[in-house]
Amino acid sequence: MSLDKSVSDDVGAEIFALAAKIYPICRSITGDGVRQTLHELAAHIALDIHEVPTGTSVLDWTVPREWNIRDAYIKNERGERIVDFNRSNLHVMGYSMPVHRRISLAELKQHVYTLPDQPDLIPYRTSYYAENWAFCLPHRQLEALPDDTYEVLIDSTLSDGHLTYGEYFHQGETADEFLFSAHICHPSLANDNCSGIALLTHLAKRISRIRTRYSYRFLFAPGTIGAITWLARNEDKVDRIKHGLVVSMLGDPGGPTYKKSRRGDAEIDRAMIHTLRHSGLSATIEEFSPYGYDERQYCSPGFNLPVGLFQRSKFGAIPEYHTSADNMDFIRPDALSESSRLIDAAIGAIEANGTYRNTAPKGEPQLGRRGLYGAIGGDKDAAAANMAMLWILNLSDGGHSLLDIAQRADLPFEVVERTARRLGDHGLLKPLGEA
Ligand code: ZN
Repeated sequence: MSLDKSVSDDVGAEIFALAAKIYPICRSITGDGVRQTLHELAAHIALDIHEVPTGTSVLDWTVPREWNIRDAYIKNERGERIVDFNRSNLHVMGYSMPVHRRISLAELKQHVYTLPDQPDLIPYRTSYYAENWAFCLPHRQLEALPDDTYEVLIDSTLSDGHLTYGEYFHQGETADEFLFSAHICHPSLANDNCSGIALLTHLAKRISRIRTRYSYRFLFAPGTIGAITWLARNEDKVDRIKHGLVVSMLGDPGGPTYKKSRRGDAEIDRAMIHTLRHSGLSATIEEFSPYGYDERQYCSPGFNLPVGLFQRSKFGAIPEYHTSADNMDFIRPDALSESSRLIDAAIGAIEANGTYRNTAPKGEPQLGRRGLYGAIGGDKDAAAANMAMLWILNLSDGGHSLLDIAQRADLPFEVVERTARRLGDHGLLKPLGEA
């Protein structure tokens, strides 16, 4: 398998354009914002859209009521909208109950969130499972509000409906699956997670055009409850998942950061770590922890799937996180392109990984006679290829995969893979189990 490398330079711009298209939509864990987002993705890939009714039991949870919002504002006594949902959907706490009242400044302050340490930014807040309503605004604006009577309106509905998620499946040569998952429940936040949604859509589109060994499943679902709903409805199929990545925050130039699966030594963990080590970037590798994104669900002990988390900057670790500063100026096409290339490289390693047997294991085979030693001369990777040849021949005893060898030899996987193919062409390497 190879993802078309010629498109790589344009990929970042294409992902950025899709992220920009879905950025304005007001999403939550349910509602029309999720549907509208999935509809945009369906223009690129043949997405299956699932609707799960309110009240459905999913593992230990229940699908909540559906939330939709049309308008919201705070008006001063002169009737001016001093806070307007139409200017930023972050102004309303997600899942706010409907309200329309005239209240004092003191009462308004009971229903306002701000960030005193970042006084010009609007925070992102939700209250999915406790009935409440609130506005979010810059601290500086709150401080400047006169003691006035304010009209507050949140024109929302919270009623029986559905939880919506999207799924794209690409059939490979085997039923074994590679799962990619992105959360789609955040309103106008660009890095977290328009970047992840857009990148996976483009990856799915590119994978749909090629033959792959693994089957690929792309899941676009609201955080936590969406992954739990999917797991509840697919419990009998999850053992097909051999590798998985949750992605978020792929558009900033920080990181990259990889958090290992709960297993810690799954092939996805080794492929991602190896890819990042050879990326030339200063990557951070983190051990699994039961806090973060939907890897929490996939890696819960009853499933324990081999699913890691890939990000650029780590969630919570940057000042833009969950604020109005996580906007389209914060993410960059070049960072999206780089994130995409790193994921492509890890996919490439997993697709091509295999275990081989040296057919002339007694003494070193005479490489010069076969024109193999230094034969890749002229190639700037000639020295690496020669080392790869020696490592592959030495470790291909049936007990080491190409990824094991690449790790042990500390060589880029693609050098090991290319060299293994060459040794195979000369009859020195055979797939394990082949006579
Ligand atoms: Zn988030």
